[in-house]
Amino acid sequence: MAASMPANVEVQFINESKGRGLFARQEIKEGEAILDEKPLVSTQFLWNELYKYTACEYCLRSLETAEAMARRLTNNPALSLPHPECCALDPSEFVVCPQCQVLYCSEECRKASWDRYHQILCLGSSHHDSDHPLLRLQEIWRNIHYPPETASIMLICKMIAMVKQAEDPGHVITIFNKFVNNTVNEEEQIAHKLLGDQFKCQLELLRSTTAEILFDESIPQWFTPEGFQSLFALIGTNGQGIGSCSISVWVKNCEDLELPEDKKTELDDFIDQMYEELEKESGSFLNCEGSGLYELTSSCNHSCDPNAGITFPHNNHVLTLVALKPIQPEEEIYISYISECEMSRSRHSRQKILRENYLFTCRCRKCDFEADEPDVTSEEEMDSGDEDGSEKMDNL
Ligand SMILES: [Zn+2]
Ligand SMILES: [Zn+2]
Ligand SMILES: [Zn+2]
Repeated sequence: MAASMPANVEVQFINESKGRGLFARQEIKEGEAILDEKPLVSTQFLWNELYKYTACEYCLRSLETAEAMARRLTNNPALSLPHPECCALDPSEFVVCPQCQVLYCSEECRKASWDRYHQILCLGSSHHDSDHPLLRLQEIWRNIHYPPETASIMLICKMIAMVKQAEDPGHVITIFNKFVNNTVNEEEQIAHKLLGDQFKCQLELLRSTTAEILFDESIPQWFTPEGFQSLFALIGTNGQGIGSCSISVWVKNCEDLELPEDKKTELDDFIDQMYEELEKESGSFLNCEGSGLYELTSSCNHSCDPNAGITFPHNNHVLTLVALKPIQPEEEIYISYISECEMSRSRHSRQKILRENYLFTCRCRKCDFEADEPDVTSEEEMDSGDEDGSEKMDNL
């Protein structure tokens, strides 16, 4: 189950405060794929699922055809996409769990899910019965974590179920124990956002409900209040966002078509207009979204000026780390833990997001360089409401 190490990179221990890092062992060109990695465990976000973004339960492949997805998200049932052959989905390969009817993109995914955790988490015939404890737990979670979603209680449930189903539970526990799971940064007195006031009163309810459904004698430590907080911190700091989307696959395949110039322009205009309508109806919510734990990629440190980026080119949870700049042998590989939009914000705002979600103060090259500049807060940041005066005073 452990990730195998590609020849072009290695994990090195840096120091006590930075921990590990991923380093290049050979020259990597800009645009080159550095590695592909499957997660140990992944899950779709619960609101995303409720809003009918249809994804494979195991690999998060987006399972609506590009046309069906575009119709739903533009709220235009008459929309018809040209070049249907560019939508790579084959619904004849889809399978459902015979007990609970949950959908998979393939028999391979159904089996992988069943073999790893689904025997424990299958709702059986009670998948419509909202009194089922697992559905109650999901409801509790949705009520405290509205979109935009960043984590899911189901990642914790799947981790527990993997231990319960494993022939060698100790081995699975050891792998999960390798992930950083500090609930606080003692040195800098920062507590994780998922453990903040917003969640505090609900955390005990989540813990007791999870224990009621999934308690296991081989991991009693995961069900104590402290242990459960550690699991939260683990998924909060290591959970990698995943996005899959049939529309993007269709667009990508359309771009690769060899067409006469006028047909090409016509298709480009169609796509531009479709994106405008998508934006108007659904804003930025175009993907099946979820998160997963990636053993190797989780050793990558953050930089606000990264030399690598995370992509999901296979329309599922398989991550591809791509070089954004040329990387020399022995050079550390950095990714950004925050979104592109957050990256364009001031040093002050970036550091606040990183502290609350990843428990560290960024000292990357860009942050160092900008340390001498006055802290300007853009209007957008004033509007976003997450920056009140008192916090700003603390940080200045
Ligand atoms: Zn799948
Ligand atoms: Zn099932
Ligand atoms: Zn930085």
